[in-house]
Amino acid sequence: MATSDWATQQLAEFLAVTTTAADEHVAVVHALERLVESFGAEAGAFLRGDLVVASLGWTVGDDPEDQLLGVAAGEQSSVDLPGAGPCEATVVPVDRDERTMLVLARAGEAFSADEVALLRGMARVLSLALRLLGALIAERRQAEENARLVSSLRERQALLERLSAVQHRISSRAPLPDVLNAITNGVAELLGNELAVLQLADGGPEGLSLSVTPPGAPPLGAPGARAGGARRPGAAPVSPGVGAQAIRENRLCIGAMGPEATAGPPFPGHPELRSAMAAPVRIEGKAAGSLVVGTARAGRPYPPSEQAILTAFAEHAGIAINDARAVQATKKALDDAKFQATHDELTGLPNRACFYERADQVLSLAGREGTSTAILLFDLNHFKEINDTLGHKYGDRVLCEIGPRLRQGLRQSDTLARLGGDEFCVLLPRVESRRSALEVAERILILLEQPFYVEGMALVVEASCGVAIAPDDGGDADLLLQRADVAMYVAKGSHMGVVAYDDELNTNTVGRLNLLGEMRTAVQKGQYVLHYQPKASLRDGRVEGVEALLRWQHPTLGLLPPTEFIPLAEHAGLIRPLTSWVLDAALEQLANWRRQTGIPLPDRLSMAINVSARSLLDDTFPHQVVAALERWGVPAYLLGLEITESTIMSDPPRARRLLGELAESGVKVAIDDFGTGYSSLSYLKDLPVTELKIDKSFVLDMNTNPSDAIIVRSVIDLGRNLGLFTVAEGIEDRQTWELLRDLGCDCGQGYFLAKPTPADALGNWFATREVPKLSAVR
Ligand code: C2E
Ligand code: MG
Ligand code: MG
Repeated sequence: MATSDWATQQLAEFLAVTTTAADEHVAVVHALERLVESFGAEAGAFLRGDLVVASLGWTVGDDPEDQLLGVAAGEQSSVDLPGAGPCEATVVPVDRDERTMLVLARAGEAFSADEVALLRGMARVLSLALRLLGALIAERRQAEENARLVSSLRERQALLERLSAVQHRISSRAPLPDVLNAITNGVAELLGNELAVLQLADGGPEGLSLSVTPPGAPPLGAPGARAGGARRPGAAPVSPGVGAQAIRENRLCIGAMGPEATAGPPFPGHPELRSAMAAPVRIEGKAAGSLVVGTARAGRPYPPSEQAILTAFAEHAGIAINDARAVQATKKALDDAKFQATHDELTGLPNRACFYERADQVLSLAGREGTSTAILLFDLNHFKEINDTLGHKYGDRVLCEIGPRLRQGLRQSDTLARLGGDEFCVLLPRVESRRSALEVAERILILLEQPFYVEGMALVVEASCGVAIAPDDGGDADLLLQRADVAMYVAKGSHMGVVAYDDELNTNTVGRLNLLGEMRTAVQKGQYVLHYQPKASLRDGRVEGVEALLRWQHPTLGLLPPTEFIPLAEHAGLIRPLTSWVLDAALEQLANWRRQTGIPLPDRLSMAINVSARSLLDDTFPHQVVAALERWGVPAYLLGLEITESTIMSDPPRARRLLGELAESGVKVAIDDFGTGYSSLSYLKDLPVTELKIDKSFVLDMNTNPSDAIIVRSVIDLGRNLGLFTVAEGIEDRQTWELLRDLGCDCGQGYFLAKPTPADALGNWFATREVPKLSAVR
């Protein structure tokens, strides 16, 4: 082979071995092998500056380093190789910048100029190959670095996504348990741990999640673990181990159970955990809890990057809790401020502003539903005297008692407000009628009249009330209050308890005020009279007793029926003396009849009188009754008291007590106008009542109105079932009399039998009455 061909081939082979090497060192070693072989040399070396990077042909450790460096420096041209003896040496540069060179040593024949030229060429090839490799390796390193960066970016991305989800929940004020769930779930998932627990040393605020495992995690079986769920605060005490340590030392802590299991579990609440890590959760700057992650995998390392993740999540938990607390505090402050703005400071009742707001709501709803709404405005009478004579302390105590007292007479949906001073207002949604609103007002007045006890002193407070009803008296709160106010002033001025607004209030009031003035002296002037109406057995027509019905023989207006003046007397507080007068006069009359011999009166003729609420609910009333019976020598069983259902319902416990006392003295009690009120059967059953009087409004039309007949029949059945005597009032004709008799009603009263008549006329009636005719009705 020609020298040039040979040289070319050597170069090509040299190029192949050097450029295919995996790295620089391999390239150098392969290059030396190739050179030693190509030039039949004993040894070769690759030098960088004063350093022998690689060599071939020398026994390890025997490198004639000094000789090689001497050749490289041009100080010698031969070397003495152990085992080969003196050798010719030649040196060629590889890369001047790098100060690298090749040294070859051959025994015997010196290197020819061609060989040196070839060697130089090969050195250049090597230089090129090394540069290429350098670039390749740098590129590979860069690629690896890039891959590492990408994966760490991915991790960071996942972390950021989790954290930003948490931040979003915090900033959108999601419920705290949701936020904390997101934190525990997020960190458990990112770190690939089965358990993540957030625990607070003090149990934390209401609703705080304490212990959470990520959904889908294998169940840990430990008592505290629940997949994907939150536990209420206080349910789990802070476990010792890393969790407690992190709080105590206010730093991130890692715990692992050694193979010998001597150290105990890192998170004792979960004994199956082998590795756990906890970061402190700081609330208001203090370590108040910890976020713990744990796994059942033993020896799980927690590198700094994971520690940083846990720390970040623990910090977010702290932010979320702090934020929730701040929100709670702000909300409470707002609620407090709102309450203060809408409630009266002294009594805690809604104030005027709040009353208007509720009234507007109720009125607009009532407008849509077509129902009525009532406003009852109360003003205490002479309240100033309590303040002036006893001091504001007493007055304030009374004002504070009024709310709880009046609540007893109201429904849940009614609003009671203090408008200011001694003015209170009640809003009644869905009232059935003006009459039922007035009944509520009356009931409230009776409740108010019971004494208030302040430091052992009984303080009696009376009030006046004005009533206005929507839609009749006005459609908005302003107008209604204004009208209730007008009615209230009329009530106050006329000493009437309750006055309902009506457009003619002024003209009416004048007449009523006059009547009221006259009523005060009517007893002394002997203007009251009693008329008597008999009640007879429906079976045989025998008269059982009479009912005393009051009339006022007015000097100019004539004989006034009780409906014209009794409500006025009740409102003006004049009813008690009037009842006393009726009681006395009726018993006197009965005593007279019992003494007279000329009239064919039944032996056991009884006398019934009507008693209104304020008289009955007066604690002294039973005593008065007993005294009157004794005064006229009438046995108690001959006296009957007729009371209405609303009387009982205005204060049931009191009514029951006083009726009990009366019944004990032997007096009979009847419920008058039964069917018009709302008394509950459970009350009736427990009351010492002996008689039910069916209201005349049902009896009058029962012949023509089937629903009235049904009501009458069911009252009779009810009476029979409760063992009560039933009396039908308002019987105007024979047909009704017979119908009632057939229905099993015990007694009848009405124009058919006799109209209410003065005592002497009744005597005649008894004398001329043809009882057999009536009994022969059958
Ligand atoms: P009341 O106790 O239900 O009395 C029955 C009323 O029905 C009486 O009216 C009587 O005249 C009337 N009446 C009786 N039979 C008939 C009839 O067949 N047809 C019709 N249309 N009416 C009949 P009066 O006398 O006007 O009394 C009205 C109410 O005044 C009484 O109803 C009672 O609640 C009350 N009242 C009467 N006297 C007194 C009293 O001394 N004290 C009290 N607090 N209230 C009284
Ligand atoms: Mg009656
Ligand atoms: Mg009646």
